[in-house]
Amino acid sequence: MTDDFLADNIKEIHRRIVSAAMRAGREPDAVRLIAVSKNVDAGTVVRAIENGVRDLGESRIQEASEKIPLCAARTTGSLLVWHLIGHLQKNKARAAVGLFDLIHSVDSAGLAEEIERHAARAGKIQRVLVQVRISEEETKHGIAGDGLLGLLDVLRGMEHIAVEGLMGIPRFFENPEDSRPWFRLLRELRDAAVDKGFRLPELSMGMSHDFEVAVEEGATMVRVGTAIFGERRV
Ligand SMILES: *Cc1c(COP(=O)(O)O)cnc(C)c1O
Repeated sequence: MTDDFLADNIKEIHRRIVSAAMRAGREPDAVRLIAVSKNVDAGTVVRAIENGVRDLGESRIQEASEKIPLCAARTTGSLLVWHLIGHLQKNKARAAVGLFDLIHSVDSAGLAEEIERHAARAGKIQRVLVQVRISEEETKHGIAGDGLLGLLDVLRGMEHIAVEGLMGIPRFFENPEDSRPWFRLLRELRDAAVDKGFRLPELSMGMSHDFEVAVEEGATMVRVGTAIFGERRV
């Protein structure tokens, strides 16, 4: 029964991504679904993988360091891509480099330096996104829009970091349409940086309640948890 429910949810999200992309005149293939598996047990994650999920998002290093090896061992042959979508503390950079294919939450030169150091030691080019604060609220995480070009410039000099785009989380709005200006802002910040010569193909934006609006505004990665796995039991 659980399998059916996961399979149905995943199919339904894909269908809604395709419709949203078509409405906006975009290629549906240009949008990746990241299944956010935080607080979801490894057995359930494995079932999602068996239902075609390949991109998985985790928020916490501790949880991921247990779950990722478990899932890998139980799904050999599936090429999984693990995304760190939560805030990263500098002292966890080493573990993050060891665990994740793409880190979405780089928001300071100091954090980037730690990632660079550990990636160099590991002989890895760490793919990252820069998290931008797109909210009228004063939230802790994400670099302010006016600091973006400066940070991108610093990151460009780091040999073991490859910046692939931007990530943003608007504050929660009841009506997903209210997220639209913030998604648009992130896209415009990206476009402005591209005009300055940065290569930033990826836009990670949109969650369960607003991913369709994000796709219409140019998201290339949507991070969907609840709509796939159900309400999290925290
Ligand atoms: C938890 C989380 C998500 C997924 O949220 P849902 O509302 O469950 O889809 C997406 N992005 C980030 C950064 C998260 O922490």
